[in-house]
Amino acid sequence: MLGLEGQWWFAFVQSFIVLLLFAFAYIPIERVWRLREQGTFRPRWSTDLAFFFGQYWVFGFAAAYVLAQVRSLIGVPSPDWFARSPAIVQVALVIGLGDLCAYWAHRAQHHFDVLWRFHAVHHTSEHLDWLAAHREHPLDGIYTQLAVNLPAMLLGFGMSSIFWLVTFRGMWAILIHSNTRLPTGPLKHLFGAPELHHWHHAKDRKAPNYGNLAPWTDMLFGTHACPPEPPRELGIDQPAATSYVGLLLWPFGRKSHLFRSKRVPSSASSVPRPRFRR
Ligand SMILES: [Zn+2]
Ligand SMILES: [Zn+2]
Repeated sequence: MLGLEGQWWFAFVQSFIVLLLFAFAYIPIERVWRLREQGTFRPRWSTDLAFFFGQYWVFGFAAAYVLAQVRSLIGVPSPDWFARSPAIVQVALVIGLGDLCAYWAHRAQHHFDVLWRFHAVHHTSEHLDWLAAHREHPLDGIYTQLAVNLPAMLLGFGMSSIFWLVTFRGMWAILIHSNTRLPTGPLKHLFGAPELHHWHHAKDRKAPNYGNLAPWTDMLFGTHACPPEPPRELGIDQPAATSYVGLLLWPFGRKSHLFRSKRVPSSASSVPRPRFRR
């Protein structure tokens, strides 16, 4: 067993290896199947790199700690019917219910100002790619992890299984933020696609596509949209901090513009609006 210092060194070395693996995988893919015209070293890439290392070195541990504490607080064993189900059914159920929780938790992040001021950090990216996926305020990240893993915890999954779910969803998050239009054809309506999530990052707090792994929740609740071209502008319609530390502190700013969030009038927005009312 590694001690705390050993674990940290392991995470430190691992972060560089993972960064290189992602870079080698995604930089060519983003060139071949590019969604928007954008270079690898686009503006603010270093801010997103800082978020990447922040997650690997510090905040990933914090999220894992909180998840483990909540898991032990809940402390329920798997119900009999669930324990007797085949593993494939268990995984499908946990992923499907996790998607449902993630969807409504995400809707809440956009609806309630107190959640939006943290979630907005993720939406400050004006250039999306695999690296931008890591731009997430740590408190926003913990909130999302708790929501998405709640069914797994209630159905008695252990922390090692939850760890694999977190890893899988993390890899998926990197894919859907990547600057790619993959030639998946109609499969994109089944499994989701980067262009769907890019529309979620359109410059409008009420932009569509809240789904996590797949767009079925958006289709079910009327928030799905997939226009043929990517959105003209990405980001948020308020001035925001731009540095890593600035963005970490920004939600706590007493004069944060986010509490007085100025809405873009519907008529002035080219972003397709979900059918629900806020
Ligand atoms: Zn969002
Ligand atoms: Zn996103």
